[in-house]
Amino acid sequence: MKEDAVLETLCETAESFYNRGYAFGSTGNISVRSGGRVGITPTGKSLKGLKPEQLACVSLDGEGLNENRPSKEFPFHLAVYARREDVRAVVHLHTLYSVALSCLDDFDEENPLPPLTPYYFMRVAPLAVLPYFRPGSTGLAEAVGHAAPRHNCMLLRNHGVVCAGSTLSEAVDRTEELEQTARLHFLLRGERVRLLTEEQVEELRKQFG
Ligand code: ZN
Repeated sequence: MKEDAVLETLCETAESFYNRGYAFGSTGNISVRSGGRVGITPTGKSLKGLKPEQLACVSLDGEGLNENRPSKEFPFHLAVYARREDVRAVVHLHTLYSVALSCLDDFDEENPLPPLTPYYFMRVAPLAVLPYFRPGSTGLAEAVGHAAPRHNCMLLRNHGVVCAGSTLSEAVDRTEELEQTARLHFLLRGERVRLLTEEQVEELRKQFG
């Protein structure tokens, strides 16, 4: 896919997230890497109605390559690309149920979500849980970069999610699956739930982990 087409797809994806309630206000940011350049949504703008010419372009070192200012979270996008040759897209959103999960005090940080469906293991697990850092801070970028080699999906405490993919559609699928699993988790709280067995989870981990 040509770079122009990729940026067009990024804008369509951003709008789709907004229209479906995955993003609101001017929250959320999405980036794609093409060669040594990263196209990323601009700071302070809604994900709705973006045009490719409004996207910021930065080098892998964070140098601005056009007149548009990147999202203030661009350092953690770059931290993922720096550690993952295979990653071509990063999505960061404040999706409702995932943020709710990130605010719970009492979950197992090694396994933040129970084994409800196979799709969580096919697209999300293992989910990293990162401590709270101020948005836009160096500490947040370092923590995301540290988790990136072992995790495609991260839950940022009291904040939101970061999902990486070898394509934009893979990063989108992961973000949606994580949100869906968090939603199921809250929907089923207090119910008697049949979880996947350890054997079933192990089978999925072997194939998809
Ligand atoms: Zn955020």
